[in-house]
Amino acid sequence: MTGIKIYSPDIATAFSVEGEGLYGFIINRHLFGQRLLRIAINAGANLKESTQALEPIVENHSLKGISAKDLLTGRRAKITSRVVVDASGLPAVLRTKLPPELRIDTATHKEDIVICYREIRKLKEQIPEPNFCEIYLNRQHAPGGYSWIFPEGETKVNVGLGVATSGNPINPKNQLYTHILSRTLFGDSSILKGGGGQVPTRRPIDCMTGDGIVIVGDAACQVNPIHGGGIGPSMTGGVMAGKTIIKALDSDNVSRTGLWPYNVEYLKSYGARQAGLDVFRLFLQGLSNDDLNFGMKYQLITESDLLKTSMGEDIRLNLSEKTFRVFKGIRKVSLLKRLRKATSLIRKMREHYQNYPTSPDSFNDWKRKTQHLAEEASKMRAPS
Ligand SMILES: Cc1cc2nc3c(=O)[nH]c(=O)nc-3n(C[C@H](O)[C@H](O)[C@H](O)COP(=O)(O)OP(=O)(O)OC[C@H]3O[C@@H](n4cnc5c(N)ncnc54)[C@H](O)[C@@H]3O)c2cc1C
Repeated sequence: MTGIKIYSPDIATAFSVEGEGLYGFIINRHLFGQRLLRIAINAGANLKESTQALEPIVENHSLKGISAKDLLTGRRAKITSRVVVDASGLPAVLRTKLPPELRIDTATHKEDIVICYREIRKLKEQIPEPNFCEIYLNRQHAPGGYSWIFPEGETKVNVGLGVATSGNPINPKNQLYTHILSRTLFGDSSILKGGGGQVPTRRPIDCMTGDGIVIVGDAACQVNPIHGGGIGPSMTGGVMAGKTIIKALDSDNVSRTGLWPYNVEYLKSYGARQAGLDVFRLFLQGLSNDDLNFGMKYQLITESDLLKTSMGEDIRLNLSEKTFRVFKGIRKVSLLKRLRKATSLIRKMREHYQNYPTSPDSFNDWKRKTQHLAEEASKMRAPS
């Protein structure tokens, strides 16, 4: 894919964002997973199929392994390990059962989760621009989320819609059928596959390591908070975690301190971007359709700056004298003020993450400041 088109709620404005960093790849998710699995097995990994992890085994505040169930025989077993990795996706089956003394956040709040439904459809006609993903913003159709059309070839698309699970969530499948699949593009199209799921759309958890445990992927909320894409960040986190674990095993220190470099490496790099983008997500969730229509029409953020923002750079506002006059004329100055506040908070949040503590000793102070910044950011979600 060469870029993304983002449509305002009234469809009157489309931001067309393309360029390096926005090149995307449409992959066959099943085959891709099988390929990674083959690489792991060839490297010596032992795959235990049909085995469900049940609980962490904790002794003296330290992970010693897991209890698991063989789903074919129903037999339960204990699997011991020097380092346990929770890579179980959003359910985070081990993280959510860790005792508080491990000082790892165990909850993912529902206001930070988007629930999605998507279908792979075969179209009767060709997609006009098969190299562009389309995103539609509309607070009424997809509150707290968005709908998308991602081409998978000239007549095949991945079309879906996600809504925030806070408040009184509406059914994303109904919304998709009413507002998107009712378009002429989908006339006489056929469903090849359909299904839904949940996506964490927030900054990563503050600490992803404990004595003998590491958390990666969706289980650690390693996603882009704006669009929920988590495959890239999860792989990045996985590689960083793997390298740290090798070093920790080699130096015979699999304690929280020995595994800490993984926190530092991820949270100072992609984690800092994620944290800034999370503030931007909360700001966007607080906007009305009217705000979005005006903001996009008058290019408060330009297309090229949006590209940079989506990659985690600071937002640069397009606040010329003329823009200010226009916004004053249409009584939208409060929108400008909120955008300014969001911009400043994004910068503060990213800087804070870039100063992630290099050892666990000063983690508590860092976490206190994080909570303060996160509380400020969550106020922005309140509707204007
Ligand atoms: C509808 C939808 C569309 C998406 N589209 C995109 C997209 O286009 N691009 C993108 O980048 N991201 C997308 N995402 C997000 C992406 O799927 C995730 O961010 C990514 O898969 C996270 O990888 P993961 O390995 O951490 O978790 P997962 O892919 O969720 O893998 C977790 C694995 O753990 C296993 N597991 C869970 N519990 C247990 C247990 N108790 N015992 C043993 N195993 C267990 C699961 O079966 C699963 O195989 C989408 C998500 C949804 C829901």
